[in-house]
Amino acid sequence: MPARPVLKALPKRGGLFHSIKANIAALSIGLKYFVDPRRMTLIYPKEFIKLDPLYRGFIVLEKKKCINCSSCARICPAAAMKMISIPEPDPKHPGKMKAKLWPVINYQRCIFCGYCVDVCPTEALYHLPYHDIVYENLAEMDWDLETFTRPPEYPSEKEGRPVTYLIDEEKGLVKVPSEEQ
Ligand code: SF4
Ligand code: SF4
Repeated sequence: MPARPVLKALPKRGGLFHSIKANIAALSIGLKYFVDPRRMTLIYPKEFIKLDPLYRGFIVLEKKKCINCSSCARICPAAAMKMISIPEPDPKHPGKMKAKLWPVINYQRCIFCGYCVDVCPTEALYHLPYHDIVYENLAEMDWDLETFTRPPEYPSEKEGRPVTYLIDEEKGLVKVPSEEQ
């Protein structure tokens, strides 16, 4: 019968020594790229990467196309999309209100998988080709219905210069204005 392997205790992580070691490792990586002539620094947001128009970034709701089916909220694997009930005038019973379900999104949770966009039967949801928007606090990332129907402004498009990465055999990665590619 083969000898049973002896289980060894894993080395303890944490503590001052581990912390100093981890910081030295991080600093050495930074230093390596600081002196590497092939490095490329993006001066964000004055320069930004122009993403493909089909990039799966922020999601917007076209309210007039939505049939309130809840499929987007049901398929969401991160519980980022949910349906909220909003009372509206009932066209069948003038003077009365009727609750209707509308989707809203919480970008604290969204993993940009795009399932909600793909499953929507009426194409009421669409992606924007950017994901880098700054929020001042977590509450701002939890969009209400009005925010969800308004595409967020993308400051870089006004203030910045779109660039693209190219691979140069000698220099490594190089950036060029996106119009020149
Ligand atoms: S993109 Fe994915 S994670 Fe984000 S709301 Fe849609 S289904 Fe949920
Ligand atoms: S799947 Fe589309 S139609 Fe259905 S609730 Fe979501 S956005 Fe509206």
